[in-house]
Parts: sequence; C-alpha cells; structure tokens
Amino acid sequence: MLFDLDGVLYVSDKIIRGATDSVMHVRNIGLPLAGVTNTTTQPRSAIAEKLAALDILIAESDIYTPAAIAVRVIGDHSTKLYVRDSLLEDFQGVRTTGTNPNFIVMGDLGASGYTPDLLHEIFKHVMDGATVLALHKNRFWQKPDGLHLDIGPFVTAIEYATGKDAVILGKPSKDFFHGVCAALHVSPANTLMIGDDIESDIGGAQVAGLRTALVKTGKYREAFVKSTGIKADLVLPSIADLADAMKLLQSS
Ligand SMILES: [Mg+2]
Repeated sequence: MLFDLDGVLYVSDKIIRGATDSVMHVRNIGLPLAGVTNTTTQPRSAIAEKLAALDILIAESDIYTPAAIAVRVIGDHSTKLYVRDSLLEDFQGVRTTGTNPNFIVMGDLGASGYTPDLLHEIFKHVMDGATVLALHKNRFWQKPDGLHLDIGPFVTAIEYATGKDAVILGKPSKDFFHGVCAALHVSPANTLMIGDDIESDIGGAQVAGLRTALVKTGKYREAFVKSTGIKADLVLPSIADLADAMKLLQSS
C-alpha cells in the first residue's frame, strides 16, 4: 500500500485525523507499505523526522522520493548530479564523475539555477551518450513573490536539443510507481495508491496498473477532479476511513 504524504497524512505541519491509526492498521495486517512523495527539496531523513514527530510510523527506508528512485536506476553506473546541496545525502554511495557520465540527474538547483553554461554542459554529456534522469518535470512553482520557472522547461530544452527523452522520476510517471512496487516486491495490480492529487497520484498510479483511493483532503477539489475525467477505484472522505474501505475492496 502506497501513501502520498502531504494532503493525505498531514497538511503542512498538521496531522490529518486518523493518519496514525490508518498506517498502524496497514502494518498490523502485514501489508508492505511505503510513503511516496514528489518532494525534491528535502532529503528523506527530514521527511522521516517530520513523520516521527507526528507519530506516523513510516521509516526513512520506506519513504520513496524521486531521488530514491534515481539511486535505484543508477545502480553501479556513473552519474553527474545537478541537485541542491540539501539533497546530496540521498545520493550517498552513487558513483559521481565529471567526465562521460552514464546518467545525468536534473533536480532543483535553488538560486544558482540552470544557467546557459550549465545547460550546455548537460547537452554535451547527453550528446556523448548520457541519459537524463529528471526528478520531476514541473513547469513552474509559486514563491512568495510570484511564479518562477521550475526545472521542467530546462529538462525540455535538453530533450529538444538532443532529441532524447528524459526519464521522469516523480509521480505521475509510470517508472516511479513501478520502481516503488519493485522495491517493495509487490505487483502493481495488488497495490493500492492513496492520494489527494487526482492527476499525479490517481491518474499516474492507474496508468501504472495500481488500484487507487482518492481522499477528499489536502488539494482535493471536487470540480477539478470532475474536469479531469479520472475516476479512482475508491473515494474516501479522509484517511480515517481507510480501514472500512479496505474491507469493501477485499469483498469486491
Ligand atoms: Mg499530496
């Protein structure tokens, strides 16, 4: 069972009622369980600390971020990392190189950003055979002073120039969901994804072959859900309703 975190178990620093008990319920019945999040600005250790402070029992090793999936994809190959310093601890153990890397990891770079020189450097690596692993492909993001370009436009620039698609490692990518299922040794068809984002969580998981449960907390908005035409297998008022819903699902 996969839990999206923000909007499902907590919103910002506030726990959603029933989150602690629902995670415990899944543990007690012995189902493999993981937290899945698109967070690319915090290492897994910081996410684990937050969960522990909220009394939600999900260990650091059971939290899957795009960086965690990237590490699995990279394996023994060489890589060059373009991620912010705070995320480097999640890449401990990967072999980094400045010349002829097998993989390029494109993540958030904070204020320094993707300069033309940096994009040129990545372009050269890809033309020499490297594959881009993008931690996500968001178009823009909201800062206190307004909208800013996110990394998606830069990933797209490299794809356009090289004619090679990047591997996108966050939700809603099929590779992300399959990577997590492989790590848990479960089949997608026997796995339930619980999320508050109809496109990233529910739509993505469905394309990857998982069963889905949409919670009406966090970013859930009824009108937007309808406009997407995506239908989750289950719709729950909140995570507090999970145990009852699982009984229904088992009997269906
Ligand atoms: Mg969410």
